[in-house]
Amino acid sequence: MTTTTPRSPGATDAAAPGTSAVPAAPPGGYDAVPELVRLLDELTGDEGPFSGAALAALDTREAFPAQACRALDEFGLPRYYVPVEHGGSLDDFSTVMRLLRAVSRVDLTVAAAHGKTYLGAVSTWIAGDPDRAARLGRRIGEGAVVSCALTERHHGSDLLAGEVTAREAEGGAGWHITGEKWLINNITRADLVTVLARTSPAGGPRGFSLFLVDKSRLAPGALTPLPKVPTYGIRGADISGMEFHDALVPSDALIGEAGHGVEIILKALHITRTGCVAMSLGAGDHALDLAARFTTATTDGGTPLAELPHVRRELGAAVAGLLLAEATGLVAVRAVHALTGEMSVVSAVAKAYVPAQVDDLVARLLHTLGPYGLLDADGHGSFAKLERDHRIIGIFDGSSLVNRNALVDQFPRLSRGYRKGRRDEQGLVEATDPGVPLRPFRPQALSLLSGIGASVVAGLPAAVDRVHDLAASEAASDRLASLAGRLRQAADRLHEEMAAVRFAPRAVPGHAFELAERYELCFAAAAALHLWLRRPDRVDEAWLRACLVLVLTELGEPVGDTEREDLDTLADALLTARPGAVPSLIDSLEGTTP
Ligand SMILES: Cc1cc2nc3c(=O)[nH]c(=O)nc-3n(C[C@H](O)[C@H](O)[C@H](O)COP(=O)(O)OP(=O)(O)OC[C@H]3O[C@@H](n4cnc5c(N)ncnc54)[C@H](O)[C@@H]3O)c2cc1C
Repeated sequence: MTTTTPRSPGATDAAAPGTSAVPAAPPGGYDAVPELVRLLDELTGDEGPFSGAALAALDTREAFPAQACRALDEFGLPRYYVPVEHGGSLDDFSTVMRLLRAVSRVDLTVAAAHGKTYLGAVSTWIAGDPDRAARLGRRIGEGAVVSCALTERHHGSDLLAGEVTAREAEGGAGWHITGEKWLINNITRADLVTVLARTSPAGGPRGFSLFLVDKSRLAPGALTPLPKVPTYGIRGADISGMEFHDALVPSDALIGEAGHGVEIILKALHITRTGCVAMSLGAGDHALDLAARFTTATTDGGTPLAELPHVRRELGAAVAGLLLAEATGLVAVRAVHALTGEMSVVSAVAKAYVPAQVDDLVARLLHTLGPYGLLDADGHGSFAKLERDHRIIGIFDGSSLVNRNALVDQFPRLSRGYRKGRRDEQGLVEATDPGVPLRPFRPQALSLLSGIGASVVAGLPAAVDRVHDLAASEAASDRLASLAGRLRQAADRLHEEMAAVRFAPRAVPGHAFELAERYELCFAAAAALHLWLRRPDRVDEAWLRACLVLVLTELGEPVGDTEREDLDTLADALLTARPGAVPSLIDSLEGTTP
């Protein structure tokens, strides 16, 4: 016998499960980020739900961090998952990124559990009927949790293989959903779930539709929640599944037009894949902070580890990696507004590159920390936990490989666009200058393929020319000009190789994935270069040189020993930062503490 009463999604902490109302929006001009950072500082105290001890205990028990999520509800974070036009406070995606980064800096399990509501709701924001979207906005404002169920036990990345079906009820009285969705974040705890279902037996790109299923409106016996799945990381999260038994949902559950589900979700993924960057950046901040504290406090024969040349170099490379990830993330999230039609490229780069870069950075630091990284460097096993937790970011919402495949599919346009220097100059300025106000996001401008290519990379040659001009007038160093020149040559060669890739459908050759990785590196370096060029003062170029050193090294280009010394400058910036802070482009570019 089936039941609609959810089986326990696993243990939780002391707070009773359920929803808590989100407070009303504060007046305009309010910056939520410093307020949230302040609150998190308070809640990381001894007895707080974000304390290292509390989070470690929940992780050990695989228990859901309900108290921490409730504190975020009470702060009003869910308002930032709802666009202003649907009654929320979301009018700038970079704000949401900074908010989720702040939470991820403390704990990724909480961030993944709480932020999931945005992923669950986004399809309704971009394609739903306005009344339905406003109602969903109200529900989220009342504390409702929303999940998104695409994956099935035997089908993950390949959305067109899904077997869950939705059959239109007689007389158009709704839809009957049947089948199992599995390995879904928050699906048992959620009040509403966005479900991708096959609506045409033949399937295909127009054979699937999206439904916003309100669990409270289902008949008894219409669904069975499946048990929590034990996971390697984010152990406390509700990762489970749901089986639908001919569940009747009303007609207005359909999101957008019938048959348009795959197109809608692919466009929604352009936004959510970009949003995932926030979690990686927060994990990177946390890893660097722990590494800085550990290497400063631990000595080798009386010398702090942080003063050993090799350790400094590794710390510097890790900071450069995080700055490149941040440059990519910052530009990508601004591109949601400014270069919306290019998000098929930008989101694929962001989701493939940033989590992989942070995984690398964490691995690099783990070598430096040695066994202490895996044991108990801070008394709560935080480093080992974040290493485990972060692994999932590169897997869900499209793995790095899936996103690289999406880039390879667009190689012909990308290489053509680069060769011709085709770019949206105004959009590029807006995406790469944090001082320029962002235009409102227009979902209608999302496109499955970017017609123009990628303005960020196509604008690289002009940016390098500008650096050379600055160097000629002594407003930039020759060293920077030389690094930028090598980057340009590497990007030119890469685009020639990309143009030569040919393959039959679904038979991407292995070396194309390597080219995609090199493309991501060029994008990251171009993003950093554009951001630096937009700065009115451009005084501090050491961070940019260090980023270019790291990119050129990863591209296999020659880099001199003296040039690598810029990495040590970044290590010094990390080691002299106040505890809890790590060098950040947002700090220096916007003058704020994220
Ligand atoms: C903790 C956790 C939370 C999750 N939350 C959700 C959720 O909320 N909602 C949801 O719908 N799903 C969720 N998932 C599922 C997740 O998105 C899938 O696991 C993921 O899409 C991969 O699908 P799969 O496991 O079936 O692997 P497959 O799709 O079978 O892929 C197997 C391997 O092949 C690679 N691969 C696949 N396609 C290609 C390609 N075209 N080119 C190159 N390589 C490729 C993949 O990268 C992977 O390494 C979650 C998974 C986990 C572990």
